[in-house]
Amino acid sequence: MKWSKEAETAIKKIPFFVRKKVVQKVETHVGQKGKALVELSDVNELKKIFLSKGGMEKEIKGYEITSCFGSAGCPNSANSVTRLSQDIEKILEAENILAFLKKTVKGDLKFHHEFRVSLSDCPNACSRPQIADIGIIGAVLPGVSGEACSLCGFCVTACDEKAVELDEENQRPVIDVHHCLRCSKCISDCLTGTLTEMQNGFRVMLGGRLGRHPRLAMEIHGIYSHDQVLEIVKNCLRFYKCNSQNGERFSHILSSIDPII
Ligand code: SF4
Ligand code: SF4
Ligand code: SF4
Repeated sequence: MKWSKEAETAIKKIPFFVRKKVVQKVETHVGQKGKALVELSDVNELKKIFLSKGGMEKEIKGYEITSCFGSAGCPNSANSVTRLSQDIEKILEAENILAFLKKTVKGDLKFHHEFRVSLSDCPNACSRPQIADIGIIGAVLPGVSGEACSLCGFCVTACDEKAVELDEENQRPVIDVHHCLRCSKCISDCLTGTLTEMQNGFRVMLGGRLGRHPRLAMEIHGIYSHDQVLEIVKNCLRFYKCNSQNGERFSHILSSIDPII
């Protein structure tokens, strides 16, 4: 659907974490009116509905799950989060977080009460997993196979983290795993197959948030399989539902247990 310049400017002023929802809502609203162009008056109309008493509450589903656009063919994708995202959404649905929030939150529900999960296919992290309750990043740890290295240096050039060096004496690459972000670019650029996937899965981080007291999610070190991530998500939701009172965010609960995390 097309947007007028004024409508586009207005929508950009809406906080990013609800913008996608509002855009969808505005476009549905405009479509129902039989129009193909979103105008400023349409955005203002929806704003009024959202800000009216209980207007926002009707739009809240208890959780938000977002993914980067890696599945649309982004060349940087290390490991696709598409199937994982679908399976996590099933868990979020089954947990009925909306009913939990309605029972525990005093007053109107707001978008900031929703439990947020954000997934990205690579460490560029376009969906901002670092500020979600649970953040997930596709990961591939490189390893050295038995194939001969030509010392072409493509892997060294590919690595933005300077985590690959060439051992010319032994004719092999050396990976610094402490600086490696598991992006898989060095593997893709190695034409001889000397660099190969040693482990494939997902990095997981917990307890990020924005707002008055922002905090980046803390990573649980390691690479986790699809099923392990689902287990982590289930455990986090169990913990959240046992401890959250009056809409308290997951990250606040984690901080109250141990101020360091
Ligand atoms: S996070 Fe990576 S794979 Fe996803 S859209 Fe961004 S650059 Fe592409
Ligand atoms: S996986 Fe990415 S960060 Fe790690 S060594 Fe290779 S290019 Fe560098
Ligand atoms: S590991 Fe592969 S990319 Fe790196 S120098 Fe050897 S052959 Fe080239």
